[in-house]
Amino acid sequence: MTGNFNIAIVGGGAAGLLTACRLVSLGIDKIAVIDGNKEMGRKINATGNGRCNLSNLVAEPEKYYCDDPAFLAKLFSKYDISQILTFIEKDLGIRLAYKDGLVYPATYKAETVTEALLDYCNDGGVKFVNNFKVTQCKHLYGRFMLNNDITATNLLVSAGGTASPKFGTDGSSYKIYESFAKPEDFAEPVPSLVQFKTLESDTRKLNGSRYDCSVSLVTANDTLATENGELMFTNYGVSGICAMNLSGKFGRYTKETGKDVYLSINFMPKCNVEEEVKFRLEKFTKRTPREALAGMLSADLLDVILARAQNDKDRIPEIIKNFRLKVMGTMGFDHAQVTSGGLKLSSINENMELKSTPGLFSAGEVINVDGPCGGFNLHWAWVSAFAAADGIAAAIKNG
Ligand SMILES: Cc1cc2nc3c(=O)[nH]c(=O)nc-3n(C[C@H](O)[C@H](O)[C@H](O)COP(=O)(O)OP(=O)(O)OC[C@H]3O[C@@H](n4cnc5c(N)ncnc54)[C@H](O)[C@@H]3O)c2cc1C
Repeated sequence: MTGNFNIAIVGGGAAGLLTACRLVSLGIDKIAVIDGNKEMGRKINATGNGRCNLSNLVAEPEKYYCDDPAFLAKLFSKYDISQILTFIEKDLGIRLAYKDGLVYPATYKAETVTEALLDYCNDGGVKFVNNFKVTQCKHLYGRFMLNNDITATNLLVSAGGTASPKFGTDGSSYKIYESFAKPEDFAEPVPSLVQFKTLESDTRKLNGSRYDCSVSLVTANDTLATENGELMFTNYGVSGICAMNLSGKFGRYTKETGKDVYLSINFMPKCNVEEEVKFRLEKFTKRTPREALAGMLSADLLDVILARAQNDKDRIPEIIKNFRLKVMGTMGFDHAQVTSGGLKLSSINENMELKSTPGLFSAGEVINVDGPCGGFNLHWAWVSAFAAADGIAAAIKNG
């Protein structure tokens, strides 16, 4: 297929589709959205277990990891959450529902979001190009040329990162910049929001059990980060939001230092564990320690803790508060929800345009910004799409 567009958007995911919608609302025409998949928005449909947790009422810049927090703060203050949710609700027509600060479509169906984005694009005459994997991008005679086929005056790369390649995000997005950006413009991608593989076999029998706890990522000398919430043991290690939120930090830290990292779990973070254990052992003197402590923690977990204590009652509180697991790695990009790394904020301007290449814009996960579970990553897709749309519209209008 050939074409000549004002803007070619590579990646018909959350960021690409919302940029197209915003451009339509700003009166821009000749927009093409290109995707390697046979349909647009495949990943959106899988988000939030099919319910699409599309934003979070506390989506503030401090919640994100990136290479330039001051730049990110400026973007978040220019494109605040009310502006974004108003566009989603009033312009795209998606009624919203709120649950403990998490924002969903009121239908609790991710397809509602994808369909609304596609319908708005269709109304605005956006051209969709499916099954078109961009493998090569050149800039010739003032135009970007994709695979020697599609040309456009401006280009938006919104082709995601390396996480969950089954949705079309296989890292080929970074190759699109090959002729334009330098290797130092990129932070090396690591998987984020992914499960941990751990060494110890004694927790394998807890496979499927969930605990409300506090989990820290630690080294021999330091605590790198702490998360509170639900942790789930698996037959390879641990999963659950609390653990997954630590995985990006783990990936970046081990890539940089190569040092050993452990998870330190406190199963009773809101309790004075020493007092509680002492009280029970003193009160139930006729019982075994196992019987005296029953009811304090689930039976299967208590068995593992007591086995680690090796009949030394004094060690029990410390094991409950600092239950160690050696991290052997993560389940990798195949299982990761997000990529940490990618095109650095320091290499683009506030119009989301590559400093070295006017007309080349970026949005979404391809950029070195990632957040925790809870709607933060889609929120970044929307914020960056708003910023890119303004930049692209200005570039088109100024000729
Ligand atoms: C299972 C799962 C659940 C998730 N749940 C949530 C959630 O509930 N809330 C939340 O905030 N975040 C969630 N996320 C993260 C969120 O989906 C992403 O951060 C977000 O979709 C990124 O948007 P994007 O537009 O930048 O990239 P993507 O949505 O990944 O879209 C990129 C698109 O580019 C296309 N593409 C890639 N390379 C090329 C190429 N070379 N040529 C042409 N097309 C290309 C891909 O096919 C893809 O359609 C989840 C992720 C996963 C995997």
